[in-house]
Amino acid sequence: MNPGALSLIPLGGLEEVGGLNMMVLQYDDSIIVIDAGLMFPEEYMLGVDFVIPDFSYLVENKRNVKAIIITHGHEDHTGALPFLLKAVPAPIYGTPLTLGLIKEKLREYQIEAEMHPVRPRETISLGPFEVEFIRVTHSIVDGVALGINTPLGRVVHTGDFKVDPTPVDGELLDFHRFAEYGEKKTLLLMSDSTNAEKGGFTFSEKEVRRAFEDIFATSKGRIIISTFSSNIHRIQQAIDVAVMFGRKVILAGRSIVSNAQIALDLGYLRIPRETWLKLEDLKGLEDDKVAIITTGSQGEPMSVLSRIATGEHKQIKIKEGDTVILSAKMIPGNERSIGRIVNHLFRRGANVIYEKVSEIHVSGHASKEELKLMLNLVRPRYFVPVHGEYRHLSIHASLALKQGIPKENIFILDNGEVLEFHEGEVHRAGKVDSGRVFIDGKVAGGVEEMVLRDRMRLAHDGVVIVLLGVEKLTGNIISGPDVISRGFIFEDASPELIADVKEFLSTTIAALDKEIITDSSLLQAKIRSSLKKYLRNVLDRRPLIMPIIMEV
Ligand SMILES: [Zn+2]
Ligand SMILES: [Zn+2]
Repeated sequence: MNPGALSLIPLGGLEEVGGLNMMVLQYDDSIIVIDAGLMFPEEYMLGVDFVIPDFSYLVENKRNVKAIIITHGHEDHTGALPFLLKAVPAPIYGTPLTLGLIKEKLREYQIEAEMHPVRPRETISLGPFEVEFIRVTHSIVDGVALGINTPLGRVVHTGDFKVDPTPVDGELLDFHRFAEYGEKKTLLLMSDSTNAEKGGFTFSEKEVRRAFEDIFATSKGRIIISTFSSNIHRIQQAIDVAVMFGRKVILAGRSIVSNAQIALDLGYLRIPRETWLKLEDLKGLEDDKVAIITTGSQGEPMSVLSRIATGEHKQIKIKEGDTVILSAKMIPGNERSIGRIVNHLFRRGANVIYEKVSEIHVSGHASKEELKLMLNLVRPRYFVPVHGEYRHLSIHASLALKQGIPKENIFILDNGEVLEFHEGEVHRAGKVDSGRVFIDGKVAGGVEEMVLRDRMRLAHDGVVIVLLGVEKLTGNIISGPDVISRGFIFEDASPELIADVKEFLSTTIAALDKEIITDSSLLQAKIRSSLKKYLRNVLDRRPLIMPIIMEV
């Protein structure tokens, strides 16, 4: 890097929507990191729990990292923190709710970190940078944009935002501050491109309340609402409408209870004491007095909603008259698993309301008109669209062009690409290492490492194949479970061990609901997870497990 140069280095978030957000800003030797997010794996990434950006550039320069600044508490902005902090222990700056959510995550990983709570309109000094926090509205409370004063000029990073004129907590986007950056002349704007394809304005979160009210007014049975556990506003609206209709609220699921508790403790959520009941209290309640709020809106196989849908949840059994609301966006790629859950719920007699049939979700990201508004408020000299796939960035870039930013001042960057500001000039200055790192459990590894680990596991613990024949129509097991292994200790162990494993599998499968047995992907997941646990507990081995289901 040139001395006296300001560099912008996106390590993630420019090739994927809703994932891996991580932006590096560097002046001479001083580095600040904006966000450290993860991405959930796509279906082909077998055995991967999630994905984080390759931040080896930061590891190489770790002594220069002054701070990690987090714009808001969504996992696509915070999820890589446990891994980043292990390698690069820098202080974290964020608003109280953001830090509250991060603390919980770090506790899981048993990582200590230095944390500094900040408030909107507060400014902090970090070496050559002065960072101001600016209130935005988004699908999580306490989100901020950043106004960063650097020796070469002002930089504005919007974080994730929409322009919600009637936010649930009354905290508006700080138009004045953004306009001031426009007045004071801003060198560079980085802005959220997620919804750049959508015309008009994004609906206010308040619109969801109207939809909730309609549903509550016409439902006689229990109401189950699933959403993201971080969407405190959505949870608040569900609670408010429940109170309005005299229903008690039960929060079901570990993450939603923990997030609600954090938000409650910090004053971001209000629940009347007599309204919040425990899952155990469900039995004693009349159906029309119940509202259950839970997660699993993306069809995640191990979530509460999925277990409710397939009849596996101990306390919550779906019955005729129940209404289930999936109050979240169907994230592309999840349609099949969501569709499956919806089918199961309908089959059990529930009325299911989801994105395709009702307005029970609004986006947290700005549409075209709001993006133009942001460009007009900040009026930057240079523009870099962020948070999106190439097409989103590209559409956002043409919006900026229409708003009067010259073509040569707009840069669509790749992850890892360095944009350098130096002596009044701007140019692309090569690339640093970047990419995706796959996380399996709590261990990190690159693609090659992942393959290597599979091979090592194969070499070390071998492979166990479970063969099972299922009659699709009835769910009857017509052959198996048979167990074949290669390189696993079965071969030299006693035949009793194989018999034990078969016995274990038969009992496990017999205890499953017919709906799971006839759903081969769910059945595979169940067999894999229970056998994995069994072999680890009994033999302390982790072979590759491959269930093969033959449906006839
Ligand atoms: Zn995001
Ligand atoms: Zn977000």
